[in-house]
Amino acid sequence: MARADTLARARTLDRPDLAYLVRFPAADGAGETELTWAELARDTDWVAARLREHGLTAGQRALLTMSGFEGFWGHAAIGALRSLKVTYGIAEAMGWDHRRTSVFHRELRPHAVIGLSAETLEGLSGAADLGELFRPTAVVLARPAAVPMLRAVGVPACLFSPLGPALALECPERAGAHVNAAEWRIGERDGELSVAAGEQRASPLAETPLGVAGRVVAGRCACGSDDPRVLFGEADQLS
Ligand SMILES: [Zn+2]
Repeated sequence: MARADTLARARTLDRPDLAYLVRFPAADGAGETELTWAELARDTDWVAARLREHGLTAGQRALLTMSGFEGFWGHAAIGALRSLKVTYGIAEAMGWDHRRTSVFHRELRPHAVIGLSAETLEGLSGAADLGELFRPTAVVLARPAAVPMLRAVGVPACLFSPLGPALALECPERAGAHVNAAEWRIGERDGELSVAAGEQRASPLAETPLGVAGRVVAGRCACGSDDPRVLFGEADQLS
């Protein structure tokens, strides 16, 4: 058992700067970068600001659906929910765990569902009407493949997606998913998205094609943010 004096001594130890080694899917296999505690803290602040724009506030409840290997953004999202004093539950985003999403959604009655995947929706659709399930949920932030499935049944879902080591999060304007321009440079070539470390980032990442179809929208969003926005999908079916 940890004793108070043991914890006090532990607090005086040097803490390494490195929080995570991030591996992410890229066009030519796995990309890699580092993530320091300072970067994670800034990412967390950015996510908290985005969730605040969606109206998340103290005393509400949220359901986060993510996979264990997505810890680099999951940690930022969890930290953001904690800083907003939003109570949260976590379900795995892979299809086999859709029942946990269903149980949490029924029992927690969350104000927000964050990170909903197409695999989870496909699992749920066997036993439930997706529109009836999620229309009463005030904020639904879903992955690119899940957003059209939700909008088709009258759920005004917003985009939420890992983008390499970055996170893309759509504001209530639903005009594309914002990426933090202070931390990342998002590019587009031949209809495919790429990411590189931005000026603030201490951990290096050269421009890395992600093998993800999409388009970058520059210019100020109606929400007032100058962070660039990402639209996912082929040119003729962008969401
Ligand atoms: Zn916006």
